[in-house]
Parts: sequence; structure tokens; C-alpha cells
Amino acid sequence: MAEQHRIRSLSPLGEFDRLYHFNGGLKLAENRAVSLASPARSAGIPPQLVLPLQQHIGEAAKCLVQAGDRVHKGDMLAEPVGQVSVPLHAPTSGTISAIETRPVPHPSGLPAPCIVIDTDGKDTAGPMMPPVDYLQTDPASLCELIRRAGIVGLGGAGFPTQVKLARKHDIELLLINGAECEPWITCDERLMIDQAANIISGIRILQHILKPQHCVLAIEDNMPAARAAIRAVLENGDYGIRLVEVPAIYPTGGERQLIKVITNREVPSMGLPADIGIICQNVGTVAAVHQAINAGRPLLSRLVTVTGDGVREPGNLDVLIGTPVSHVIAAAGGYSSDIERLLIGGPMMGYAVGSDAVPVIKTTNCILAVTPQTMPSPRAALPCIRCGKCTEACPADLLPQQLYWFARSGNHDAAQDFGLFDCIECGCCAYVCPSHIPLVQYYRHAKTTIWAQEKQKQAADVARHRHEARLARLERIKQERTERLEKKKRAVSTQGSVGEDPRQAAIQAALERVKRKKEQAGFTPANTENLTDEQLQQIEAADRRRGSVHHPEDDKG
Ligand code: SF4
Ligand code: SF4
Repeated sequence: MAEQHRIRSLSPLGEFDRLYHFNGGLKLAENRAVSLASPARSAGIPPQLVLPLQQHIGEAAKCLVQAGDRVHKGDMLAEPVGQVSVPLHAPTSGTISAIETRPVPHPSGLPAPCIVIDTDGKDTAGPMMPPVDYLQTDPASLCELIRRAGIVGLGGAGFPTQVKLARKHDIELLLINGAECEPWITCDERLMIDQAANIISGIRILQHILKPQHCVLAIEDNMPAARAAIRAVLENGDYGIRLVEVPAIYPTGGERQLIKVITNREVPSMGLPADIGIICQNVGTVAAVHQAINAGRPLLSRLVTVTGDGVREPGNLDVLIGTPVSHVIAAAGGYSSDIERLLIGGPMMGYAVGSDAVPVIKTTNCILAVTPQTMPSPRAALPCIRCGKCTEACPADLLPQQLYWFARSGNHDAAQDFGLFDCIECGCCAYVCPSHIPLVQYYRHAKTTIWAQEKQKQAADVARHRHEARLARLERIKQERTERLEKKKRAVSTQGSVGEDPRQAAIQAALERVKRKKEQAGFTPANTENLTDEQLQQIEAADRRRGSVHHPEDDKG
């Protein structure tokens, strides 16, 4: 209720005919035309797919297969663990050749557990999910289907989509993000041009789930082809979707920045867009939702921009998840010359990988191969001159220079106080820094260290709770045993006081019998008068015999 109250206290949304600004940002050379020129094409089926179990924010999926297993396209290879997790499916048919640690696309450069499939080239499909009439299906069931399809945010963040959709808040605005994140990247625009109808279909499903008051599809004002394709679909019906063009200023495609531009609302520090009544989804994600619900197809591939002057035929390729980057580069005509760097992502937020053996994963939106001419190696960093240019450029309203000092000195508490986790790692600060300080690297390192410490602390907390629970259980058992013994002792003592001791009772019974016998012995029967001598002798003989008999009851005592 507190959240809903907070949403109601926000200023109402208008008709989205006015745009707002975020602080800083940069106008960068776009370098988009080279990859946007031709329609998307398939990268084909590589001989081997490498599928990391961790492909999204949250818990890694749990492997369900083993080496030697035959798999079909669409088979579930790994199941989700917990709520913030999704399954992993086989993108094509083949045989599991290994489950082992392999190089993966990650800024740390560390390898991670992967499922390796030797593909058979047949692309044989297993049983897929049946298509669903979403209008006849309740939102919770649709969210579960989206989860089973393994869909995560395809804009780069990789947050499991069903978790965002399952929020309990009232949603005022469903905001579909068609603004590209960075220069060079065109996969979202290409998708809008090639699959406008699928995107609108996916948005309709999310409208049915969330029942938002408003729905906006935001694109940048330098996307005329995407605008035309989306408008052509929207003109065919009354979908309740407003197409809004925003200025192409980097990083407008960032979730928080786009929300600011469209609504003038700011996502609270450490909060979520849902906290201010907004759900934001990438166009690629809604196209994947359409495929899952209307075609029963899990997330098996994604559109990747392959570009840079280091590749011969830049473009957007439909790539099976798990395809090695080397195969994708080959599908784009191969390397054009000696490349300076191979980046996963764009020039601002991307990270260099040391090998093209790493695979494409669900969050890979761009492979950028650059030569020294277009992207020279970073220059040596010089001391900070406190010029303040980084602060002017920061779209998150942070103080990058202060963050740098705190991150560098390991003062993580202060770095967090200054909004380290509100930093979106856009790189604007480092881009303008005259001292060429690799600021973002410091922020990433600080975040990774804090997360690792937090994980260690959580593990220690769990161990401590377990130990305390064990001690409490042992103490309870000891207490219960003591109480049982006390109870027994009290019972014995009570029995003794009322003469119920069985041994004493037996002695008492024996004494009673002896007494009765004595009394009986002194009793004279009424029919013993006028007996003959012979009868008296018989009685004496009988008494003698009786007296010589040993009665067993006499032994009791
Ligand atoms: S831009 Fe660079 S040199 Fe200038 S204040 Fe920021 S960190 Fe220091
Ligand atoms: S990388 Fe972080 S600190 Fe630097 S400009 Fe972007 S949001 Fe601000």
C-alpha cells in the first residue's frame, strides 16, 4: 500500500507530447549506417555451441543434462533456481559433448561452467510449448510461460522478464525502449524495421498482463526507417500505444534516462522503475515474448550487431545462443585486418575480450571489432586535475571524481554513500576526462569487491544461523530429557506414599491369607455333632493330610 500511495503522490503523466532532459550526456558519432544497411541475416549453425549456465542477473540455471545426452532444439538443458532465474534451452539439436568450465563473455575475464553441444546440423526440434491465446489466459500463467521460455531483458541488463512483470504495483506506464544504448549498435532498430508486427504483438501481451494506464514505444529521432515500420503497424488498429521520438543523446537508451526524458520522473536511488509506477522493456524482449506466447518458441537466438572496421561485412545477424564469436565474425565475412580490440557491447559500455572463443549469450547485443585507426589503445592515465568535466557529463547526477577517489582508496562505504550503485557505467565521465583516467574500471572493481564481500558476509550469516539453530536444538533436547526424568521421579515418590508398591502389596496379601486360614482353622462346622468313631478318624486323617500339604500361595511373600 505504501508503494501505491507513493505512486499516487507523483505528478500525473501527460500526453507524452513534451520531453524532458537528464543531466549531462554526450552527442557522439553514431557509426550506425554501416551495420543497418541490409536486413538481418542468420549466422547459421556452428559446429559447437557453448552455453554458460549464468546468462542473466540472478541465480545461474541448474544443469539437467550430462555428457553423451542427445538433445533436440528447444529441450530444456538447465532449470531455473529460485525466483530470479530462468531456464536454458538447446538452440539446436546435437549431443552434449562436455559440461565444463570455458571462457565466457564477462568483464572479469574469468571462465565459468558451460554446457557444450556438438551440433548435428539437422536442427531437429523437440516438443515445444503450445501457442497460447493470451486474451484467454490469466497474467500469472502468462508470466510463468515467459519464465519457462527463458526470456530475460535483451537490452543488455539480462534481468529475468517475468520478475519485472510479476510486480504487485499499479502500473501507470508501460515504456518500451527502442532507443539504442550506444553508437555502432543497431540491432534494436533493425528489429523494429524487420519485425515491427511482432514487437507490437509482444507489447499487446504485456498490456494484457500489466493493464497499464499508458503505453509508450520510444525510439530515437534518428531512426526514420524504424519509425515508418512501427507506424505502419500502429495505423492498422487501436492498440493504445503511443510512438514517441527522443533526441539521440547518449545514453538516452539507459532505462533511468529514458524514463526521465519521457515522464520527468526519477527512479529512486537503489529503487526500481516500478517504484514510480513504470515498467520498462526492450523491443527485443517484447519480440521474444511474442515468440514464446504466440509461437511456443523459447529464447534460442537473438539479433546481434556485428560491426566495426575490423569486420568485412558488418550487419545484424540472428545468432543462436552459445555460438562462438569466431563463428559470428566468420558469418560477417571474417576479420578485415589486424584488429586492435574485440569488444562485447558498444564502444562506451562494452568490454574487451581476449579471445573470440567466447560465446554469444542472451545479453550480447553487439560484437565490435576495431582497428587502431578507429579506436586507439587507451592512453596512460595522468593525475586528476579536478576539472569537474566528469561531473558535468554524468547522466546519473553523481560526482565521478569523488567516486574515483573512494573506489581507488578502497573506501567502499563512502563510495556507496556517494551513489556507486547508481552509476550505470555509461563511461561519459571517462570519455571527457582530460587525464584519461579509466574511471569506469575503478567503479566496476569497487562494485565487484563489494558484491564479493556481501556474498561472503551472507555465507557467514547463514553458517552462524545454522550453528545457533543447532545449539538451540541440542539445548531443547537436553531440557526435554531432564523434564522426563523429573516426571518419573515424582511418579515413583507419589506411588510410595499411597502404599501402591507392588512388593509391599504382595506381602500384605500373604499375611491376609495366613490370617484367614487361622480363622478358618478355629471354625466348628454345624454338622460335626453325633459323628461315629469311624467318621472322626476319617476327619483326623484328612486334617493330617491337609496339614502336610505345601500350599503354593504360602511361598508368595
Ligand atoms: S574529468 Fe578527470 S581530471 Fe577532471 S575531475 Fe574528473 S576525474 Fe579529475
Ligand atoms: S560511468 Fe557512472 S559516474 Fe561515470 S558518467 Fe556514467 S553514471 Fe556517471
